[in-house]
Amino acid sequence: MKIGIDLGGTKIEIIALDSAGIEIHRQRIATPQGDYLKTVHAICELVKQTEQLCQTQAKSIGIGIPGAISPATGLIKNANSTCLIGQKLDLDLETILQRKITLANDADCFALSEATDGSGADYNSVFGVILGTGVGAGIVINKGLLAGPNAICGEWGHNPLPWITESDTPGRTCYCGKKDCIETFLSGPGFASGFAHSGLTLTPIQIWKKAEQGDALAIEHCERYIEQLAKALASVINLLDPEVIVLGGGLSNIDNIYDQIPTRLEKYVFSDSVITPVKKAKYGDSSGVRGAAWL
Ligand SMILES: [Zn+2]
Repeated sequence: MKIGIDLGGTKIEIIALDSAGIEIHRQRIATPQGDYLKTVHAICELVKQTEQLCQTQAKSIGIGIPGAISPATGLIKNANSTCLIGQKLDLDLETILQRKITLANDADCFALSEATDGSGADYNSVFGVILGTGVGAGIVINKGLLAGPNAICGEWGHNPLPWITESDTPGRTCYCGKKDCIETFLSGPGFASGFAHSGLTLTPIQIWKKAEQGDALAIEHCERYIEQLAKALASVINLLDPEVIVLGGGLSNIDNIYDQIPTRLEKYVFSDSVITPVKKAKYGDSSGVRGAAWL
């Protein structure tokens, strides 16, 4: 049995997979808000409960976190759940649970899940993207996560949006300190704030429902979003040329993406034709926790 845990800003989810990847247990609890020690104890309690219920000790425990372990300090960095920043989460969990814990970035877990037995399973190189509260990605080559010396592989969400125009409403400030990061356009909050320029404040789901009902402003906004996604992904294809791109996170549910992206990519990719498939994640919201188990 492998245990995977997805530590998010609002919930902690645990999954137990058997050796064939079949789910044998899953549980979700609310994340203790802003309290690191309570978070550590909640994770340990979930592991204990899962092992009791499944009547076996896990062979491995992997955890996806909204951040990364800094190779320079061994401490968590880049986490939007800020109580994790500067903590030694892996060591603290290992002290309590008395065994090895593997931590990875949540977008890396997503990419690993989809590359292992999801929409990217038939490909040797997978660029897995989360379009959610934030925008992140992971790169899987021959079923292994690509890891770099700075632990930021796939963090192209904090590159500036390429081929930017006035219609993209530039000048957006990102929490990272830079301007016009891809994340400020392609994340859920970015998508919603772009629409707020029309004078209406709606959630991403409300905007997209309006588009489905034929609202011209909302349709235009969704099409602009897909164009921005094409620009951002074209820069990835020019650099990495992955065999497949898999999209996850709430915004990946905009179905028009998959019809429109092939022709939109052709405008930006440096190639006479673009055959890169762009697919929706097979496991949806569960990919993060499944990928953590595959760590
Ligand atoms: Zn940024």
